[in-house]
Amino acid sequence: MTASRCGYVAILGRPNVGKSTLLNHLLGQKISITSRKPQTTRHKLLGISTQGDTQILFVDTPGLHSHEPRAINKYMNRSARSALRDVDVLLFLVDRDQWQEDDDLVAGLVETSAAACIVVVNKIDRLADRQALLPLLEKLQARFADAEVIPVSAVKGENLDSLRQLITARLPASPFYFDAGQVTDRSVRFLAAEIIREKLMRQLGDELPYAVTIQIDRFEAEEQLTRIDATIFVEKEGQKKIIIGRKGARIKQVGTDARRDLEKALEAKVMLNTWVKVRAGWSDDDRAIKSLGYDDI
Ligand code: GDP
Repeated sequence: MTASRCGYVAILGRPNVGKSTLLNHLLGQKISITSRKPQTTRHKLLGISTQGDTQILFVDTPGLHSHEPRAINKYMNRSARSALRDVDVLLFLVDRDQWQEDDDLVAGLVETSAAACIVVVNKIDRLADRQALLPLLEKLQARFADAEVIPVSAVKGENLDSLRQLITARLPASPFYFDAGQVTDRSVRFLAAEIIREKLMRQLGDELPYAVTIQIDRFEAEEQLTRIDATIFVEKEGQKKIIIGRKGARIKQVGTDARRDLEKALEAKVMLNTWVKVRAGWSDDDRAIKSLGYDDI
């Protein structure tokens, strides 16, 4: 019998560095959302990748923010910190150029962790000259002496097999924690909310208010049909109008697109009802955040 490996891997990095993209590629399946907007990943996600004798349990973390006073960012920071506890491997994601203040914040967290660290230099596809990377790689290796430093392109999938090997080598020998076929242990409700959020983002782009959140009011899976009711909360009446669109056209499109993705993900027919409601100032109010389900991160 061959010894299997299984353990937790956290992906850390400032917003927009490519965490969701990397996770999606390593999982080979879309469960997180990506966009050009920072701060789209508000929840801790757990994705499971099983290949051969290795099962990697990915803990994705929201970005860290040094200057955002709003209450929600406290949760994001706490979430990132809690992701560091009890993980076996940390992937510290940085951009191939543009070292920012937020990178230092994350680096501080990484340095205090006991987990094995792999520094992943992302977006190397944007480099015309790969030689230009060497000074950064050397600097990172000097700062994180015990870590492995590896350049990748999450978008193009470049070097991700090598990254996977590095991760595997650092996981403990252990039986699998989950069935090999399982993709995520986050609830399907969560998945539904994320899909709706992604469709909203597609429709609205820069118009999407930051403080939009989605609550799944009902999720009932019958044999042939899954019924989902969702409420989209915004802060202002004007934002509600934008999301609903002319004669409801926008929210209808969001619903249609979301339903299609949900049907694929759930392998069932889906009946999706969405409402848009104004909930003033929720993101500055801890209690409101809790009632919307953000306190489990
Ligand atoms: P996150 O906030 O760290 O989760 O970052 P995302 O995964 O959402 O990525 C932010 C942006 O960077 C998106 O527009 C991605 O398409 C882009 N991106 C991520 N990885 C790469 C990469 O390897 N190369 C390039 N060129 N763009 C990338």
